[in-house]
Amino acid sequence: MNTFNVKAYGTTSKDDDLKEMQIERRELTATDIEIEILFCGVCHSDLHTARNDWGGTKYPSVPGHEIVGRITKVGSDVTKFNVGDLAGVGCLVDSCKECESCKQDLEQYCLTGSTGTYNGADKHLQGHTFGGYSEKVVVTEAFCLKIPENLDLKAVAPLLCAGITTWSPLKHWNVKEGSKVAVVGLGGLGHMAIKLAKGLGAEVTLFSRSPDKIQDALDLGADTVVISTYDNEMESVKGKFDLIIDTVPYDHDINPYVATLNISGTLVLVGYIGKMEEALFTPPMILGRRSVAGSVIGGIKETQEMLDFCGEHNILPEIEMINMQDINEAYERMLKSDVRYRFVIDMQSLKN
Ligand code: NAP
Ligand code: ZN
Repeated sequence: MNTFNVKAYGTTSKDDDLKEMQIERRELTATDIEIEILFCGVCHSDLHTARNDWGGTKYPSVPGHEIVGRITKVGSDVTKFNVGDLAGVGCLVDSCKECESCKQDLEQYCLTGSTGTYNGADKHLQGHTFGGYSEKVVVTEAFCLKIPENLDLKAVAPLLCAGITTWSPLKHWNVKEGSKVAVVGLGGLGHMAIKLAKGLGAEVTLFSRSPDKIQDALDLGADTVVISTYDNEMESVKGKFDLIIDTVPYDHDINPYVATLNISGTLVLVGYIGKMEEALFTPPMILGRRSVAGSVIGGIKETQEMLDFCGEHNILPEIEMINMQDINEAYERMLKSDVRYRFVIDMQSLKN
């Protein structure tokens, strides 16, 4: 298969900084589109992958799965997009399209394994996929999203991961007018969870370790903030929530949060992937039909619905623009929970 080179930013080992490199993109197949990347959001998963926190990172690693840009080429069979259109790409670039999950528009749960935008098994070039910290990306049109024209493009990027990852559980657990929703952790995902839950009419509480984020959370639309390290504040919301979305990236004790679920309530983990050291205390679950669940991103159809909802309700993340060359510093700030509330890379800076 013919390829062409593009400039990218990535790392060659878990201990190295990201730096400029060249990667290959495939020449378009009939169903592909080529996107000149204009903006790319910075997700905590980018950092986990670059530093091999989850194991299994293939190097060189080029992260980035919150991609928006303009279409520069389309394959001969492309029907949804034209050259010059805006387009988005999130965390997935392919799946089998045939299994029970794919048939239900749940490509994120593809039974044979969907293809991640980065660190996935590249079906075309063999090797592994490279993400959006790059000049251009080539993606089959079925995995590309349409961007509502009324939204500020640079702020749309984080919707492609932080947005859909919090939207999908809100929809699956049927959050609506009057639902009582809580969010654990005010970062990229957490702040989108607040905005989207409010957009659906819920009453929203934030659990945070950071008292200096209280005013921001209220400005973002939270009705209440509970500082999770203050026992009296935790006690005050016991038995309250229908749904809790937990975005904390590292191992932590979830039992204090389970205690704040209402009867039949659910705590959905979207952040930490791994073994929890603190065992689950089952009485509140058994005696109150409470659940602990998990959820990963969302399907393409659902992602489009979320983007359209954000277009209609003018919902966008709070972003801080950075240049590509600032990415290593941005990761360090992310580790200190010092992001308000999503970094977005201006990809023009990669041309410098
Ligand atoms: P982020 O912007 O860094 O935000 C995480 C927030 O969690 C922080 O702002 C902080 O909020 C809180 N936090 C951080 N470390 C903590 C700790 N040790 N204990 C308790 N709270 C802590 O990260 P993000 O981009 O939102 O991503 C969050 C997690 O979701 C990451 O692990 C990422 O890989 C994962 N993720 C999952 C999916 C999925 O599909 N399931 C998709 C995207 C990302 P406070 O200061 O308010 O406490
Ligand atoms: Zn992500």
